Amino acid sequence: MSEPADYASEFPVDGDPVLDRLLDAAVAVRAQAYAPYSRFAVGAALLTKNGRIHVGANVENASYPVGQCAEASAIGAMIAAGDRRILAVAVSGAPLDADPAALPPICTPCGACRQRLNEFSDPLVPLVIGDAGGVRLATTLGVLLPHAFGPDHLDGS
Ligand SMILES: [Zn+2]
Repeated sequence: MSEPADYASEFPVDGDPVLDRLLDAAVAVRAQAYAPYSRFAVGAALLTKNGRIHVGANVENASYPVGQCAEASAIGAMIAAGDRRILAVAVSGAPLDADPAALPPICTPCGACRQRLNEFSDPLVPLVIGDAGGVRLATTLGVLLPHAFGPDHLDGS
């Protein structure tokens, strides 16, 4: 992938091929979700500054609170790969047993994941939510988590 554009300043862009590819990655990794308890599968994909895409799926646990969201899994993959700055986010989630003829509710990141994403993003980072049919919601992290508490609050330098 060539040098990515700065989507934080160009969003929203209808039919953006990079955001479409990011959503495709989230939809694809959703199929790997480990969600035997909720039977609600989620995939997340993060575009980082160097043009790489990191993906993650939700990982549930018999001890329910130990489970991990897809966004947290993707952030872990991003950190393990050495990336630190998110330029765009895609999330796709739906019940495993969903009626294919019915659109499930839009799966936005939970409150904890909005905070997790904020750690590595700025408020203008685009966030697309959708499924194989395409983008269903295009927003920004700042809209989902206004007036966020973040690293700047603790930066003593
Ligand atoms: Zn979450």
